[in-house]
Amino acid sequence: MSPIRILIVEDEVPISRLLETSLTQAGYQCTCAFDGAGCADLLETQRFDLVLLDVMLPGADGFELLPYAREYGAPVIFITARSDVKDRVRGLKLGAEDYITKPFSIEELLARVEVVLRRGHKLASRLVSGDITVDTEARTVLRAGRPVELTAKEFDLLVLFLKNQGIALYRQTLYERVWQDPFEGDTRTVDLHVQRLRRKLGLEGRLVAVYKVGYRLLKEEET
Ligand code: CA
Repeated sequence: MSPIRILIVEDEVPISRLLETSLTQAGYQCTCAFDGAGCADLLETQRFDLVLLDVMLPGADGFELLPYAREYGAPVIFITARSDVKDRVRGLKLGAEDYITKPFSIEELLARVEVVLRRGHKLASRLVSGDITVDTEARTVLRAGRPVELTAKEFDLLVLFLKNQGIALYRQTLYERVWQDPFEGDTRTVDLHVQRLRRKLGLEGRLVAVYKVGYRLLKEEET
């Protein structure tokens, strides 16, 4: 299972260090941004499971960045000063999952992080491969952070390929698993859905035909 990735956006270096050290020790993979532009750049180029977002930042404030983080599918925990009740309310209304107030205890931080990750089912229901992220419970697909609309059958087919990366799957197997009907030898339905999946997800070079068998999703390292 790939590590849980957390983006820490905090301009006060001692606090950023504290967050990074504590979360790294707890087994999370951390990346730090120190201003609005740095945060936006990282959201655009990398995938995160959670963003810890300070409200007061140079460049852009946390309120501007929050919708941006949500667009990329990352839940947000706000970091606010203890006195800023208005900020906390505003953050929650904008869709933040939770907030922590400065100064905070490490125990509280770790507990809140864990709750938000569990709520988002980040621990169990996510399949990630290349730039594709699938949430099997929410039945959502992101490509490079952007939502992709799939039909129910296309979605089931994609999940089957992601769970069997590198393995050649027979058309008959694909048909019976996804359509849950006996295979009568008509390959067009499977072929059509594979073609559409390739196009929607940019998998032309990766979801390959296997002669006389069916299809195989190449592993990331094979591409
Ligand atoms: Ca700050």
